Amino acid sequence: MVLKKLFPFFKSSCGLVYLDSAATSLLFGGYLKVLEHLVSQGFTTVHRGANQLADKTTVAYEAARAEIAALHAVSPQEIVFTSGTTAACNQVAWSWGMQHLQADDEILVSIFEHHSSFLPWMKVSEHKGAAIRWVKPDSDGLLWKESDFCFSSKTKVLVISAYSNVCGPVWSSLDELKRVIRHAQAQNVCVIVDGAQQAPFEKVNLRDLNPDFYMYSAHKMCGPQGVGVLFVNQKIRDFVTPALVGGGTVSSVTQEKAAFLPDGRSFEPGTPPVLPVIAWCEAQQELLKLFDLSVEQQRLAGLVGMVIDAVQKIPDVRVLGNEALLKKSGHLISFVVDGVHAHDLADELNTHNIMVRAGLMCAQPLHEFLGVTASLRVSLHVYSTQDDVERFTHAFMSAVARLREV
Ligand code: PMP
Repeated sequence: MVLKKLFPFFKSSCGLVYLDSAATSLLFGGYLKVLEHLVSQGFTTVHRGANQLADKTTVAYEAARAEIAALHAVSPQEIVFTSGTTAACNQVAWSWGMQHLQADDEILVSIFEHHSSFLPWMKVSEHKGAAIRWVKPDSDGLLWKESDFCFSSKTKVLVISAYSNVCGPVWSSLDELKRVIRHAQAQNVCVIVDGAQQAPFEKVNLRDLNPDFYMYSAHKMCGPQGVGVLFVNQKIRDFVTPALVGGGTVSSVTQEKAAFLPDGRSFEPGTPPVLPVIAWCEAQQELLKLFDLSVEQQRLAGLVGMVIDAVQKIPDVRVLGNEALLKKSGHLISFVVDGVHAHDLADELNTHNIMVRAGLMCAQPLHEFLGVTASLRVSLHVYSTQDDVERFTHAFMSAVARLREV
């Protein structure tokens, strides 16, 4: 199949069905081609040297930043390259959080959060004496409403995901998320949006959404591991100094003090992953020409719908998420099967060369809230096909039947 030829994994995969793309996606072959070309042209680090190779590399790196900024309709000064979502969440908590939180302040954390997005805040809350308050959807549908969010004068931060790595879509629309962001900011609450599962399938206009911080990882977008994006809204930029410092972050340093750069570079201490950043941004442009994200999102939601319909033929299977939304914009689906442990199911599927994720998905508070000890997740990407899903549902049916007999 032409599509699969774009992803080198399928050359050697020998019939493996990869359904764990929400953990990390398969690498786009175009990335390797760009990388090879860049290596053959020569490269150095950025913002340091005074030679033609250093200049060329710096220009290419800053062009990559400008491309990402343009994708989100923001300015390049607001874009920081990080090593991924987790690193960005930590950067924000240890810089903005440590500078602005005080004892008795409140950090509002959505129950859908991935450990990476709330654990840094738990640590910061211990240091500052601020309290964590969990916010949960006030309905059966696992769907946010603006009225779920109450801010008091003590609330200083809201940590929310644009898309759950367990339940999938949790916002009825981007407008609803936007309304909550506006509502929070009107109460002087800093809003941090984890976009790790949203950015791969939605072209997010960050100027319009207007969070204070937003982050995602390239490896969930068919790009390399070790590269991520952190958006730092210009309106907050002057009120935050980076927690991690080093070469490349300063405009001047004396023996007594340092002045930091006024843009995203101040959050990139040391040598950044220059080559992967440049190659990923170039490959990403190519990928976006090959795949229309909104068309892909609908196609994958159709496949998720097929999974829902198939697993629900089995008695006592519970889908963790809002089914209507999953059928509209799901690219992942998690569920539990009564009487069968998710790990046993994943092991059984693995013997049929079908790779899924099982366990707590780095979202233990969410699993507790849902009243389940573990779940099984199927997640798709642009290379996923109907055949993959059919092979999964077939193997899943027989695995459940077999494990229930045991
Ligand atoms: N947030 C969400 C919603 C995620 O799905 C993930 C990855 N599973 C992360 C954060 C962490 O991303 P990374 O491991 O790339 O830092």
